[in-house]
Amino acid sequence: MTPAAASAASEYRLTGRFRLEAMLLPFARLIVALPWAVANVVILRSLVVLVGLWAAIAVVVVRVLAWLFMRVFTWVLPDDESRLRSIREHPDEAVYPAEFEGPLATLIAARRDVLHAAGMPESRLRLMVRDQSQLRGTRAHSHAHRMVVVSTQAIRDLPPLQLRAVVAHEFGHHVIGGWTLNAIETLCATTTLKIFAGPMKLLIETLPRRERWTAYHALVLLLAFPIPFVPLVALMIPAIDIRYACILAIICDLQLFPMMWLSWREEYLADKVVADLGYGPPLREMLSAFTRRYDSRFTVLHPSTAARIARISRRIEQGEAATHPR
Ligand SMILES: [Zn+2]
Repeated sequence: MTPAAASAASEYRLTGRFRLEAMLLPFARLIVALPWAVANVVILRSLVVLVGLWAAIAVVVVRVLAWLFMRVFTWVLPDDESRLRSIREHPDEAVYPAEFEGPLATLIAARRDVLHAAGMPESRLRLMVRDQSQLRGTRAHSHAHRMVVVSTQAIRDLPPLQLRAVVAHEFGHHVIGGWTLNAIETLCATTTLKIFAGPMKLLIETLPRRERWTAYHALVLLLAFPIPFVPLVALMIPAIDIRYACILAIICDLQLFPMMWLSWREEYLADKVVADLGYGPPLREMLSAFTRRYDSRFTVLHPSTAARIARISRRIEQGEAATHPR
């Protein structure tokens, strides 16, 4: 299906088992995050035992306030609309860095085509342009409040169709949705996971990289593992028996495997949206170029580029088979 063919149809939506998968994914993530949420509750109980109820309440209040701050912060970030409005209203004030204006215009054109292919109004996505450095090495990401953030470097470097494929992929994450459930997951589990799951993440990401199968890396992992594990268990001991604390800490570490699988499913599903909108071939080209230049093996959050390319190719073939039935 070409982008033009897709635009003739009504508003894009996932159908059949893909729709079901999109609905179930955020719930599954929440269930899988449960060990970390339980560990959080146990740590809070330790705090009640050691210090008092007020300390546990203070920690919860600070955590919720920090989360609310981030939500409000991402909500008020200068997207394309507020940016253009501000420039119109204050033409003589240099509110935004001028070097972002060109990339933003290019990105707005890409969004117009992608949302046209999806049969949706442009207001469905808010856009923001950021420096590569602010995006921590990634080209683009999306978050709640309809926001898609793309790096200036990606906008400058990618051919027009590949940029549209990137926007379509981020749009795919918004089609999947589940932001409220993601927020609950973040609030209940993500902080402890980020603090204590480092070595497990390191181990998982070492697995596909054969050059890291050395005595040195094994030693690093061996030394790294107890560093967060011991404090995690120690923080739970005042509230529960040490055996249960150890078991819970191990389950928390193992949780990374199902969480990784669910993250990969979401990436594949977002790629399916790209293929459905007709941008499968440019996405495949972009990923192939990426494989040649960067480390493209899997991480906890992303499947390997080769696995994504294989799936996209299959979807393109299926799409062609459907358009040209024999
Ligand atoms: Zn993605």
